[in-house]
Amino acid sequence: MKEMVLCKYGEIALKGLNRSTFESVMQKNIRHRLKELGEIEYSRSQSTLYIEPAEDVDIDELIDRVSKVYGIVKICRAKKIEKTMEAVLSEQTTDYLSEVLEAASTFKVNAKRADKHFPLKSPEICREMGHVICERFPHLSVDVHDPDVTITVEIREKNAFVHPDAVDGAGGIPIGTSGKALLLLSGGIDSPVAGCMMAKRGAVIQAVHFEAPPYTSERARLKVERLAEIMSGYCGDIKFHCVPFTKIQEAIRDNCKEEYFTIIMRRLMMEIALKIAEKEDIQCLVTGESLGQVASQTMYAMVCTDAVSTLPVFRPCIGMDKSEIVEISRKIDTFETSIEPYEDCCTVFTPRHPKTRPVLADVEKEQARFDFAPLVEKAVNDTEVKYIKLY
Ligand code: ATP
Ligand code: MG
Repeated sequence: MKEMVLCKYGEIALKGLNRSTFESVMQKNIRHRLKELGEIEYSRSQSTLYIEPAEDVDIDELIDRVSKVYGIVKICRAKKIEKTMEAVLSEQTTDYLSEVLEAASTFKVNAKRADKHFPLKSPEICREMGHVICERFPHLSVDVHDPDVTITVEIREKNAFVHPDAVDGAGGIPIGTSGKALLLLSGGIDSPVAGCMMAKRGAVIQAVHFEAPPYTSERARLKVERLAEIMSGYCGDIKFHCVPFTKIQEAIRDNCKEEYFTIIMRRLMMEIALKIAEKEDIQCLVTGESLGQVASQTMYAMVCTDAVSTLPVFRPCIGMDKSEIVEISRKIDTFETSIEPYEDCCTVFTPRHPKTRPVLADVEKEQARFDFAPLVEKAVNDTEVKYIKLY
């Protein structure tokens, strides 16, 4: 029996002239994630990518990996059979479906007849297949409106495929079709979610993390690297920049008014991120901020931080409640790691009363008390780079 995996595209199908570019980028992304699972053949037709693994490939693992690839909305395991009604109705085919059918109490059959020369029309295929299933599994009854399981018979150009319900794919569009983004990645819940949301819309993600040893520990940094590793299941390989930020934070502490610590720190983070983005030919910065979540995430504060940036700063979580962000972070599997209790450089020298309504001119004046440029330059030069890969 030949088992295959069929992947249905979502939005790519609507891409008109760019469609084949989108399809090949997605196929390349999938190939990259599956390459060391064994021998696998790929083909494409009618908004579907057909993945045909050799016998020894672990299909559960394959599906797990594919379910994290953006650009696919549905994934199903399917049996590839000869394009005849005998094969569709054979015992081998019902054997293949027996596990799901035995667990169900109602079912329906759905037929897709892409080959219009196939002798039976869709309603006839459904009727015959339904009949065979009822005979073999007498506990089942047909429910066309709300069945426990839908069996689909697809009649394609060369073969037929039979499969039970599909599982959801990750949605979105393929990574590599929307430019590059630099994610400011902390150890918290929000920024990994923000990064994956941008990747979902096709951006290649690089990450920058600011650390302040000895105020922040080696373990805090390892936690962030682990987060990037989990993200890479969705985002693909991530170039990870770790910036030594201690000297800058100490200079802020020693030279600026306490109520401005956080806002000035954020502006300097942006400045450094911009320099990295420029070197890497990246088109935007991304943060995990959500409007009003904390004092530094007011509109006033964002005006002051964005004033530094020559690139757009995207904040995909901006309109989300914490609970909504948490829901996504559970889905992408970063939540449990994010809540591990390690310090972040933002929690070093936090002001007791941060300004929630900073005024740009005042912030600039306060920041001008010290010449941060040489420290910024040095931090960029001393940044460590690492390539994070999950597989
Ligand atoms: P998160 O859950 O992403 O840590 P948060 O709710 O803790 O966010 P802040 O600490 O105010 O919020 O940080 C806001 C954003 O600033 C983060 O989402 C992240 O994009 C960026 N950021 C904060 N700390 C760091 C850091 N140490 N390195 C890189 N980026 C950071
Ligand atoms: Mg944080």
